[in-house]
Amino acid sequence: MKPTIALVGRPNVGKSTLFNKLTRTQDALVADMPGLTRDRQYGDGKVGGWPYLLVDTGGLSGAPDSLDAAMADQTLCAVREADLVVFMVDGRSGIVSVDEEIADILRRHARHVMLCVNKIDGIGEDKAQLDFHQLGFDNMVSIAASHNRGVQQLIEEIGDYF
Ligand code: GDP
Ligand code: MG
Repeated sequence: MKPTIALVGRPNVGKSTLFNKLTRTQDALVADMPGLTRDRQYGDGKVGGWPYLLVDTGGLSGAPDSLDAAMADQTLCAVREADLVVFMVDGRSGIVSVDEEIADILRRHARHVMLCVNKIDGIGEDKAQLDFHQLGFDNMVSIAASHNRGVQQLIEEIGDYF
C-alpha cells in the first residue's frame, strides 16, 4: 500500500500551496484567508520517485466554535491515518501558541512528524529553523512552497522514512 502523508498546521501557513506542488494539481484552494480548506483533500504525490497518498487538511486551530471543531476532527482523523505528518509552520511569524498546541497533539497522535518551516523566501534559512527547534521535532526542513524552493529536498527527506 502507498504510504499516506498528511499536511497539518494552523490556517494560512501554506498547506494547500504545498499540496498543489506535490500533486502537480490546482485541486486545493489556496487563499489569503485562514480556514478555507474544511474537508480533507486527497491526492497522489507526483513529486519524488515513489508513490504516496497526500492529504491536505483544514488545520488545527484549537478554537472552540463548531466549524473549527469540525475541522479539528477532520485533521485528527488525517493525523491518525497518516504514516507521516508534515507539520507546517510559518517561518516569518515564528512560533505562535497554536503551533505549540498542534505540536502537543502530534506528539500524542502522530506516528512520525517532519517539521516544515514554510515561507522562508526573504528570510534566512538558519534563522527560520532556529526558532522552531523548541517545538521539539528532530526532523526539520525549510521551504518556500509558493516559490518551489526546497520542495524537492523535502520530498527526498520524506522518502527516507519509507
Ligand atoms: P493553508 O491555509 O495552510 O492551506 O495555506 P494556503 O496554501 O492557502 O496559503 C496561504 C497564503 O500563503 C496564500 O496567500 C499563499 O499564496 C501564501 N504562501 C504559501 N506558501 C508561501 C511561501 O512559500 N511564501 C510566501 N511568501 N507565501 C506563501
Ligand atoms: Mg488550505
